[in-house]
Formats: sequence, structure tokens, C-alpha cells
Amino acid sequence: MALFLLYAFTPSSHLPRFQTVSSSLQFKHSVTERFLRYVVIDTQSDPASPTSPSTEKQKDLGRLLAAELQAMGLADAHLDAHGYVYATIPANTPKKVPVICFCSHMDTSPDCTGKGVKPQIVKNYRGGDIVLPADSTQVIRAAEHPAMSDQIGHDIITTDGTTLLGADNKAGIAEIMDAAQFLIDNPHIKHGAIKILFTPDEEIGRGVDKVDLKKLGADFAYTMDGEIAGNIEDETFSADAATITIEGVSTHPGFAKGKMEHAIKIAAAVVDRLPKDTCSPETTEGKEGFLHPTGISGALEKARVDFIVRDFSDEGLKQKEALLESIVKAVMKDYPRSTYRMEVKQQYRNMKQVIDRHPEIVDYAIEAIRRAGLKPVKASIRGGTDGSRLSFMGLPCPNIFAGEHAFHSRLEWVSRQDMEKAVQTIVHLAMIWEERA
Ligand SMILES: [Zn+2]
Repeated sequence: MALFLLYAFTPSSHLPRFQTVSSSLQFKHSVTERFLRYVVIDTQSDPASPTSPSTEKQKDLGRLLAAELQAMGLADAHLDAHGYVYATIPANTPKKVPVICFCSHMDTSPDCTGKGVKPQIVKNYRGGDIVLPADSTQVIRAAEHPAMSDQIGHDIITTDGTTLLGADNKAGIAEIMDAAQFLIDNPHIKHGAIKILFTPDEEIGRGVDKVDLKKLGADFAYTMDGEIAGNIEDETFSADAATITIEGVSTHPGFAKGKMEHAIKIAAAVVDRLPKDTCSPETTEGKEGFLHPTGISGALEKARVDFIVRDFSDEGLKQKEALLESIVKAVMKDYPRSTYRMEVKQQYRNMKQVIDRHPEIVDYAIEAIRRAGLKPVKASIRGGTDGSRLSFMGLPCPNIFAGEHAFHSRLEWVSRQDMEKAVQTIVHLAMIWEERA
């Protein structure tokens, strides 16, 4: 579908050229065709694998993307040994523009199979539930997916019901590829150097472990990995891991009266005293954090409980860790000869701490979303992204919508129209960085 976009720019002394020369963009989108080509390649990552990338098959997609970028004329496009794809769209403006990067991940979640994906397109969606053709128990119910109500008239892509779709994050990849092609085909659109980065192993938390930021050479970046069209996310959880290790008192069970202090029972008492109505994943939403046991192991002598701690602020994390320690101390009063050790390890931090130092990154994205014809919505992520780690590695990196929904499941879906809006957002963002330079 070719889309002719006309827009009115706000009169501004910064933008005289665009009011006359480039007041229209003509898009011929390839995003859906690309998406359908990429999702049939199985790129599931594996948390149990020590290698990098965790699964060799992720390189199958990496090789294809590097070849397609080469074919577009991006001479430096390549796949490296760790499964990362790098490429540069060279600047075509004499202005000194900050180098921005668009980033998506190639792997799909280990939670749901990604082998033999058979995408289906529901054209011109009229509302109601979508029953997936190969497994009628798999139904995308409009009532459970409120975002469906914004999709009337759109073409919705789903699976056949037997696998995940991989819109997370191949929608983002297809969008970046389409935008790159558009910028190359339209050299009259001025932009600075634009870096493209496709990463492996994001779903297993190792997406930026082997990234070479020096080689990438970007000043700012955007992950294209968000959900609802129009969303820009500049906030993630801050995250710690806490471990409680308990040493009990062991004796022969036949002669234990008044002597034994059972480490497993102490650990169980700690878990039992966690708040019941607050502070857990199942009782919180929005900006509330939580304290969440992720594992328990032990024997009579020694037991261990692993927790993850999540909040949007560092103080919130500290409060939750203090609460955990107070619970442990209270339990230990009943076991005077046993001891405990609490260890807290930082996992990642709310990227807002870094992004707020460069407000233009989000401001320009909001403007780009508006120019793409959408209502920008600033949102926060109840989780982490590659962007949170990149931000703290020196590359501030908020997250822009890719249109993916119900990810990590067989009900995953994305619409053609949302993906096209994401492509337009990328193009506008490239233009805005040049305009404002
Ligand atoms: Zn993702």
C-alpha cells in the first residue's frame, strides 16, 4: 500500500526549509513483507546455553539481515561472531548531527516455541475474537486484548495457533529495515549518520553482553520494542537480586528435642511472612514495585531463598530490601542459634536516571510520533529492556512502540498499520535530529 502523507509543521524559525521543500513524504512500505520473511526463521534463544549467541540459529536471521542491508548499499553492514548485526546509513547533510542508533533484538522468547511459524493475516479486522486456525482453543479475545478495539479496519497478523509469532521483536527489525530502505531511496530527506544494531539473546537478559559500543559509535539510541502504537517508554524498573542464606542447627532427628533449628523451616517462615496484599507481582501494577521470591532450596543445615526486588526508584528498592531484612530478623528471633546472611546485587537501574539528562531524546521521539499521525503517550515499563543497560553503559536509549502485542505467547499479534506507523516514526525522528542540529 502506498501512503501519501501530508502534514503541517508548526511554524518555527528552526524549520523553514521543511515548510516549503519537504512538506510531504511518500511511503511505499515493505515492512509487512519483510516481517513475514523474518518470522519464519526460528531464532529462539536458550538461557541454559553458555555460548554467545546462545543458539547458533539466531545467526540465520543475522546473515539474512546483513545481506539485505548490504544489498541496500550499506557497505559496512555485517554480522559479527557473537551474532550482532551492525550497519551505518551515512549522513547526507553538511550539518553536525548527533549519531543516533535504532536497535531491535533478533531472538524470540524461550517461553514458547518459535519453530515452524505460520503467519496468518486477518485483513480489514471488523472487531470480535480471532480464532487461530490450527488450534481452535487458541483465541485472541477482544475482551482480554483491549488494544484490539483500536485495530478496526487494520490487517492483523497472527500465527496459526501452534507457535509464537515473533513480532517481539521482528516487528522492530522489519520497521528499521523498511525505514532504512526509505531513507536510502529518498536522498532528498536529510539526516545525520544513522546506526542500525540488531542484537541476539535479549530475551535471556544477555542482549548487550557482547555489544561493541565503540564500534557502533552512536550518541543516542532507540530500541523499537514497545507495544501500543504511539507509546514511548523512558522508564523501566530498577532491579536488584537479594539472596537470604540461612544456617540452621543440625542434630540427629532422634535426639533433636530442644536442639534442632531447621533451616528449611526458617526459610519457609520467611516466605510465609511476606506481605500478602501488597508488594508482590500478583498484587501490584502501574508504578508499584515488589519483592518476589524466585527460588528456594535447602536442607536441614542450610537453606537459601532467592528474591528479585523491583521498583521505579532507588529509595523504593531500599525500602523493600529493608522490609525483607526486618522479616528475616523477626523470624530469626524464634531460632536463636541459627544465623542468616543477606546479599543484595544490583541488576539494572531505571533508565530515566540517564535519559532525563538528555531530554531532547524523548522530546524528538514524541514529535516524530506526532508527525506520523499518532497521539504520543509516555509510558513506563514494568521490567527492563536492553535500553536500560545500554543507557547505563553510556548510550541513552528509550523504547519506542513496535506494535507487538501478547508477546511470548501463541496469541501474539501485530498489525500492518501499526508497523507502518513505526516506520514513519523512525523516518521522522531521523529528520528531526537533522532539523534541530
Ligand atoms: Zn522484545
